[in-house]
Amino acid sequence: MKQLVLATGNAGKLKELQALLAGLPYAIVTQKSLGVTDADETGLSFVENAILKARHAARATGLPALADDSGLCVDILGGAPGIYSARYSGEGATDARNNDRLLEVLRPLRGGAPVTARFVCVLALVRHADDPLPLLCQAEWDGEILEAARGDQGFGYDPLFWLPDQGMSSAELPRERKNAISHRGQALQQLKARISAFL
Ligand code: IMP
Repeated sequence: MKQLVLATGNAGKLKELQALLAGLPYAIVTQKSLGVTDADETGLSFVENAILKARHAARATGLPALADDSGLCVDILGGAPGIYSARYSGEGATDARNNDRLLEVLRPLRGGAPVTARFVCVLALVRHADDPLPLLCQAEWDGEILEAARGDQGFGYDPLFWLPDQGMSSAELPRERKNAISHRGQALQQLKARISAFL
């Protein structure tokens, strides 16, 4: 079976990606299990960072690599925290601190109207480190930012991400449901349809 490296060290994303990739004819190995450290995310867009991460893992392992770059874009903040979602609260950032910072930043800006936002996911798959034509799949998931956290499933900003059509936050959604409709789930569905022709 062909091996495919997953270029992410984020435990929450890893869990979701592994569940979503189960059933494909590839042996999925994580970059961490092969001793590969995280890439420097120096790009200015999700696309650039996803490609940087995939190339970094492919270069270090000699295997095809799949990377996910994702984050939360809040409309009233001009798309922030965006590609800086994981590091929003600065040095030593944690999910809890990032969520606190987002609530703090939004507090004076709320005017009674819903604070609209979207999760974005870009998946980049490279056949080798210098692949000139990476496979790119991108999806968005619309929601609103709550005034206080709800739910304890998922990771990252899930407790603050309200889904009006589901009547719950994404941290209250059962895991399989989130995987079926989320930004990452949708991008993975695109990837699944295209991966065998690509690799
Ligand atoms: P990355 O590792 O640079 O792609 O950072 C992704 C960050 O975006 C995560 O650390 C989370 O803060 C946030 N994020 C991405 N996807 C999700 C999700 O499905 N739920 C909650 N937060 C997410």
